[in-house]
Amino acid sequence: MKDVRFKVGDIAVYPSSEVKGKDAVFLLARKGKERLLVVWSRSEGTLASFQGETLRQDDRSLKICPLTHANAVALRKALPELCPKPAGLRRSVGLGDRLGLATPGHVRAVRGTGVFPVLAQQSVREMSRTGRSPEQVLDDATWGALQEGWTEGFGADADHLKTIGDIDSCARAGFVTYTLDPSEYVDDSAGSYDVGTLVAKYEALPWDRLESRPEDMRRTYCGRSFQVGPSVYILSEETFLRAAVKYGRAIAHTVEMCRHLSEKVEEYELEISVDETSSPTTPEEHIFVASELRRLGCRWTSLAPRFVGEFQKGVDYIGDLDEFREQFRRHMAVAREFGPYKLSIHSGSDKFSVYPVAAEESEGLVHLKTAGTSYLEALRAVFELSPELFRDIVALALEHYPQDRASYYVSADPSRIPDPKTASYETLKGLLDDFHGRQILHVTYGSVLERFGERLKEVLEEGEEVYYSMLEGHLRRHIIPFSAEGGGA
Ligand SMILES: [Zn+2]
Repeated sequence: MKDVRFKVGDIAVYPSSEVKGKDAVFLLARKGKERLLVVWSRSEGTLASFQGETLRQDDRSLKICPLTHANAVALRKALPELCPKPAGLRRSVGLGDRLGLATPGHVRAVRGTGVFPVLAQQSVREMSRTGRSPEQVLDDATWGALQEGWTEGFGADADHLKTIGDIDSCARAGFVTYTLDPSEYVDDSAGSYDVGTLVAKYEALPWDRLESRPEDMRRTYCGRSFQVGPSVYILSEETFLRAAVKYGRAIAHTVEMCRHLSEKVEEYELEISVDETSSPTTPEEHIFVASELRRLGCRWTSLAPRFVGEFQKGVDYIGDLDEFREQFRRHMAVAREFGPYKLSIHSGSDKFSVYPVAAEESEGLVHLKTAGTSYLEALRAVFELSPELFRDIVALALEHYPQDRASYYVSADPSRIPDPKTASYETLKGLLDDFHGRQILHVTYGSVLERFGERLKEVLEEGEEVYYSMLEGHLRRHIIPFSAEGGGA
């Protein structure tokens, strides 16, 4: 840590860390390699709710507590500021952290921007690859927020939930934002079926779960015009059928997850994501999906369509920016008409050319979701702190890329990467700014953490300030375009 606020014996308190509760002051401290919670209070009751070692100081007591889950729960109970909150319609940014060490850097990146941060955000896929539980994800964000003295609120997003079981495990941990991902049920080939196949697929939709009948739904949409912002959309029979076949099953699945959630969790908000499909979502399809989900009782605060162009992991947008603007504007109009709700930009890391456009068109009704880029910044810090470990990580990443890329949208070519055993340090460092290098390092985090996770975390903890300042600089470039001052209206 850069400076310390004060020291108690060999325990040094983080300089920005101090949050006052009703009858106690809470601080985050470090003793050697271990981070600790310090509770300073006169209230025996408050002290008793934390597990740790009590030190007497005059009429107050200091309790030094390990960063356990029980203590995180007690801390959130004592400090409502550290409980996750719904983002609502505020402009917001999702800051996924696969290592559980990034929150202080994330807080520094967002401070003063007016953008609401989602500090705990992890998809089920990420949790299984990093071996983290929903509780750990939330607890790490809580400790990180305390370390920076952050009391302006933060969100917790259980990302890309695909099943009812996914919802339950995140609900138990206390997540408030639930991103439902029905993309497995999206029929990506709907655009290419011949008319006969299309009609047969339409008839075979799960009509009981959609609480409708083929002829009723047809009557609702076919030939009907929808005034959305400045545009009028008239759904032809074919456009309607393709939209229904593409998204019908996904809608049924989403509704089931929505209803389950509303029975399980009292305060929550929903995001609906269909970004991980191969064909872009058209405005007409967006109208159909939003209108059907509303009819079936779902309410959501953000929706992630699959936008035009390519949102590959860890690199800038690939595609025509004018076309993106045009489509984003149309989707935004649908979101205003059927909500209002925010448009959510997934795989939002490093899409620098898109931010000014999305900020301008959304006028703040937007959520940007990032995750992998914080991991890549961790690797950048590792290069500075322990280049030999970085070399080993590159070698392992190359070995595992062919398997690990399977569930990610990437196109890196491993033959473009020099042999990590013999490459110079300059060349290795360059991989962090190279298209192929970034993608390969981005999607292999699971394998890398399995093998080098402990060493990697040790290095980052020892050089935490290096990591925080890299995160701050890099993520601020993501967030500033969306701040009210940065152009986002
Ligand atoms: Zn996504």
